[in-house]
Amino acid sequence: MKKLCIDIGGTQLRSELHDGEIILEDVRSSKMYDLVDYIESLLREHPEIGFIGISYAGQVHDGIILSAPNIKVSTRNIKEHFESRYDLRLEIDNDLNCAIMAEADFCNCKNIAALYIGTGTGSAVVDHGKLIRGAGNQAFEIGHIPHRQTPFTCGCGKNNCLELYASGSGLERWMRYHHIEGDLSFPLLERSEAGREIKKQFEEALFFAAATLVTLSNPEILVLGGGVVNHNDYLVTLLQTRLPEFAFAPSMRNLQIVQSSLQQPGIAGARLLENNPDI
Ligand SMILES: [Zn+2]
Repeated sequence: MKKLCIDIGGTQLRSELHDGEIILEDVRSSKMYDLVDYIESLLREHPEIGFIGISYAGQVHDGIILSAPNIKVSTRNIKEHFESRYDLRLEIDNDLNCAIMAEADFCNCKNIAALYIGTGTGSAVVDHGKLIRGAGNQAFEIGHIPHRQTPFTCGCGKNNCLELYASGSGLERWMRYHHIEGDLSFPLLERSEAGREIKKQFEEALFFAAATLVTLSNPEILVLGGGVVNHNDYLVTLLQTRLPEFAFAPSMRNLQIVQSSLQQPGIAGARLLENNPDI
C-alpha cells in the first residue's frame, strides 16, 4: 500500500509518497494549487494510495477544514470527500498538533510543549502522553491570545493578538509600517531605532508566549521551532537564559528548553497520523 503524507502551509506544500521506501518527494508553492486537486492528480497517477495524512496550517476538526487562511481548498469536508470516493483512509490535523506528535515521538517525552515561530505563532501541548485538543480541537492557539493593541488586523479579526508581534508575518507588518526595506532579518532591524524597537517588541512577545505556555502546561521539555527560530539561533539561547524572569518558577523546575531537531516536523507528524491519530 502506498501512503501519501502532506504538509501544507500558506506558502509551501510539501509531500512524500512512500511504501516503506520513499517513492516521491515534492515541494512547491501552495499558492498555485488547490489541495483537493493536488491530491486527485496524485491519486490518478498512484491509485494504490491507501492512506493520506495531512498536516494543515489552519483550524481542523473531525476531518473538516474550518479555516483556510491563504490555502486553496475547494472542499472543506476533505476526509469525507476522499474516503467516499476512493478506497483509502485520510487523516488531517492542525500543523502544530502534527508537529508536537513528531516532537514527542522524537524526544520520547510524554510531557512536552512546542512553540513554533514561523509565519504565525503556534503552540501545542502533550500532557502525560495525550495531546491536549480542547472540545473543538482548538486548544493552545497561543498566537491569538490578547497582547497589545496594534494598527493591524489579525487573520482572526482582532487587532491585539500575540501573533501580530511574535511571528514572521507580524515582524514584516511592523517593518512595512515603519518603512524598513528589505527581507526580515534581525541584523537589519538592529541598524535603525525603529528596527530596534520592533526587535524589542518581538522579544517581549516571545517571552510572553513562552512564559504563558510553560506556566499553563508545566512541560518537561519546551521545544522551539519554526522558520524564524531556525534562522535565528540566538532566540533559543535568549529563552534558555531569560525565561525564568517571566514564567512561574515551579513550572520552570527541571524544564529543558531545546531547539527542534526535526528537519520536517509536518511530514513526520503527518506520517504518525496513520497509527496514532489521537496520541
Ligand atoms: Zn488573532
